[in-house]
Amino acid sequence: MGKRGSSGEGGGERRNQDRRRSDIGAALRRIETKFATVFRACPDLIAITARDTGRFIEVNDAFERIMGWTKPETIGRTSGELGTWESRAERDRMIAALGDATRLENFEVRFRRKSGEVFTALMSLEVVNLSGEPSLIFVARDINQRKAEEMLLRRSAEELERSNMELERFAYVAAHDLLEPCRTICSFAQMLERKHGAILDDEGREYLDFLVGGAQRMRDLIQGVLGYSRAGMAAAQMVDVDMDDLVKVVIADLGSALETRGGAIETGPLPVVRGDPAQLRQLMVNLIGNGLKFHAEDGRPRVRVAAESLEGEWCVTVEDNGIGIDPEYQDDIFGIFRRLHGPDRYPGAGIGLAVARRIAEAHGGRIWVESEPGQGARFRFTLPMV
Ligand code: ADP
Repeated sequence: MGKRGSSGEGGGERRNQDRRRSDIGAALRRIETKFATVFRACPDLIAITARDTGRFIEVNDAFERIMGWTKPETIGRTSGELGTWESRAERDRMIAALGDATRLENFEVRFRRKSGEVFTALMSLEVVNLSGEPSLIFVARDINQRKAEEMLLRRSAEELERSNMELERFAYVAAHDLLEPCRTICSFAQMLERKHGAILDDEGREYLDFLVGGAQRMRDLIQGVLGYSRAGMAAAQMVDVDMDDLVKVVIADLGSALETRGGAIETGPLPVVRGDPAQLRQLMVNLIGNGLKFHAEDGRPRVRVAAESLEGEWCVTVEDNGIGIDPEYQDDIFGIFRRLHGPDRYPGAGIGLAVARRIAEAHGGRIWVESEPGQGARFRFTLPMV
């Protein structure tokens, strides 16, 4: 009875074990099917080769599609026999990069399709043991299209830069050559006014005034274009510049503007930056000068210069208590010859901010303004920290 009972229990145990084994078998088959599907359907090319012989053991559908070789044509043969590398040197380069390591990631290689077409691929490689056999798993993505697009983009950027430089050179040469005759007109018109103004009637003198004014304005504009062209030439001399000292010099330069307008300039502690001293001085003259210039008729201009570190860069602020700028025009005013006022109320050629932007950008920085009409303006520019 006891014996039968125990053999009955043993049979139950065996059946349980058999069931467990078959469950495990089914689970393994499901996992295998899953991985086989992933391997087959993966959009990137996958190939497994034996490390010792270099023969292909397995390749996926993407390999067939990208390389043009079918599985039966590939399996059992080597990459050398198929000619899947662009050249032997390309294969050697990959082997040298792998060295003694067991993995190589995102390595750019040149493969050759069955059709003979060469293409660029981004390849990763892992050395593994498959059923005791040292093997290599290659995963590669065809990036030919991306490379071609990158090349096109690079070419158009180069072309754009070339034509930009040509235009700048043209503007510089044109302005340079125009300046001389313009100066001649200016000085002879002034001489005419001085020496022979008395013999002209009122109408004649008025015409002469227009002539002198127009010629002077033309000279200022041409000088502005020259200044703008020069500011675009890459920051020539990059040295440590103490902005504290530089602003002191700028304030001294602006002495007469300060006096005539009864203004005041305050400065906070300023950093040492790396840049071209002459260009940075020009940038500060333009911003502080505008701060003194664009104030309400009855107000006394106050300009504050300060600096702070902002996300790993220096940010210099030139803030005034002047007429402010409508947000709608806050980008526009950095364009060449862009002015929001006529020359009668606020003289100028509309070049100062365009030059300021060029200088800030040539130093790897940005420039912008924060302002509301009637509330003063805060011009801010960044410079890399040294
Ligand atoms: P300009 O000073 O010769 O007019 P800018 O290029 O320096 O030329 O400035 C362009 C325009 O931006 C100015 O004409 C003015 O309308 C506006 N602007 C510049 N700075 C200020 C400021 N601090 N406050 C108000 N408006 C300003």
